[in-house]
Amino acid sequence: MAELTDSQLRRYARQLIVPQVDLEGQQRLHTARVLIVGAGGLGVPMAQYLAGAGVGFIRIADDDRIELSNLPRQVAYTEADVGRLKVDVLAERLRAGNAEVTVDARAVRFDTDSGSDLLDTVTLVLDATDSLQARQDIDRTTRQVELPWIMGSAVRTSGQWAAFDSRRRLGCYHCLMSDPIGAQHASCAELGIVGPIVALVSLQQALWAIKYFVDDSLPWAQLHIMDAWSGERTQLALSVRPDCPLCQSAES
Ligand SMILES: [Zn+2]
Repeated sequence: MAELTDSQLRRYARQLIVPQVDLEGQQRLHTARVLIVGAGGLGVPMAQYLAGAGVGFIRIADDDRIELSNLPRQVAYTEADVGRLKVDVLAERLRAGNAEVTVDARAVRFDTDSGSDLLDTVTLVLDATDSLQARQDIDRTTRQVELPWIMGSAVRTSGQWAAFDSRRRLGCYHCLMSDPIGAQHASCAELGIVGPIVALVSLQQALWAIKYFVDDSLPWAQLHIMDAWSGERTQLALSVRPDCPLCQSAES
């Protein structure tokens, strides 16, 4: 594994003295390759923190343009950016913060057609979409090429996140969606969102991405549910559902 330069040792000093990360973990982050699907309320903070942490390659896919109503949560964007493509602006901000990170901005929406190209060469996928359909597409396409992914969602004052392993040994997102708790999927545009909630979920996903790259493990197939207004948190262990269309077709 490549040695870190003096400048890298200074930049990441506070992070690599954490025993769980260490020098080797920092080197692993340097060679890590992630796809972030979405450059909105979830995608902006996670991209900023992963670039800051030294994740070597960050691909971001989103075809939206910045609107005024995005600014309360998507704090990398300014009033002057309204109307520009989110991925272009976010890539500029990430490169300005850490020139060592390779940012691959793709102005496309993730779906089953664009998916295989977007997944090429990455080793982890982060869902930052606010879309049930996109999450189902991520679940399906990452499963085909055996990649792990981390979902996240937030509406009003509550958030959810879960990590799915490359083989879906403990269940998949389609298993979760047949559960009444998991099936709550109305979007922020419909129900509203308080900015810090989406950042909390986003940074939990970013932290798990760092943990995955550093020590290759995550609490797979556990749905974490948080109401950040009241402080209540619960966890739900997922399992392979006998009626899951994806798990059934994988078995046969
Ligand atoms: Zn399943």
